[in-house]
This record gives sequence, structure tokens and C-alpha cells, in this order.
Amino acid sequence: MRGEDLLRDSGLRATSIRVRVLEAVVDASGALAQAEILDRVQEQGDADRVSVYRALDALVERHLVVRTSGPDRSYRYCSGDAGACAHSHFYCSRCGAMRCLPPGAFTLDSDLLPEDSVVDRIEMRVEGLCGDCRMKKTHE
Ligand SMILES: [Zn+2]
Ligand SMILES: [Zn+2]
Repeated sequence: MRGEDLLRDSGLRATSIRVRVLEAVVDASGALAQAEILDRVQEQGDADRVSVYRALDALVERHLVVRTSGPDRSYRYCSGDAGACAHSHFYCSRCGAMRCLPPGAFTLDSDLLPEDSVVDRIEMRVEGLCGDCRMKKTHE
């Protein structure tokens, strides 16, 4: 099982709740809010909220899951293997969907950074309308 292998490689014990949380995030087409992850995990069987959120925190700590800030001060979560460093997102301001962009979507000119600084993480959010919402808008 994919989720179990990822967990084992990270040194985290592969409890069933962690596997289910990780797989919900990996299988998603974009970055999910906490409540969406909870819904998906609960669809697979019983899981209490606290355990799900605690498992999510553990996965973020091990970089299996990337936490990024959403537009509404809530966090969104997506798979760590989408490229942890230059990982940016497209956010649809109408339906709230948040898609992961490939690492090459933006490049950073390191010559423009403050002298002697080092980058751990880049967080960038592009906002607009997704294709579905654009189509709907033109038909209204
Ligand atoms: Zn949309
Ligand atoms: Zn992402």
C-alpha cells in the first residue's frame, strides 16, 4: 500500500488513521481544507476529528503533507511529493478549489534575495477563476 510505504520511509509508524489521512491528501486533485480531509477519511470508516487532525499534524511535520495558507486564514493541505520548495497554487475565488502548480510554474531569481539569505520554502498563491467557473460565468 502506497500510504504505508511513504509512512515507513519517513520513520513514522503507519497507524491506520495516518494511512487514511495521507491517502486522502495524495488522492486529491488539489489542496484540501482540514474539513474536507476529515470528510474523506470518515467516508472510509469511523474516525474522530481529533485523531484525524493529530495525524495530519504528524504528516506535516515529516513533510509528507505540505501545509499552505488559504485565502481565508485557514490552511490547505496537499501532497509533499508535488515539490516542496517552489510549490505554488492556483486558487479559484469562486468555488474555492485550490490546485497545486508544478514546481516550474515560478522561478526565483536568487540574485534578488537579501544578501547571504537561504530559502527553506516558497509559498505563492495565484488567484483567479478556474476553467469550470469561467465557463459557468459566461453562461449566466
Ligand atoms: Zn472555480
Ligand atoms: Zn499543493
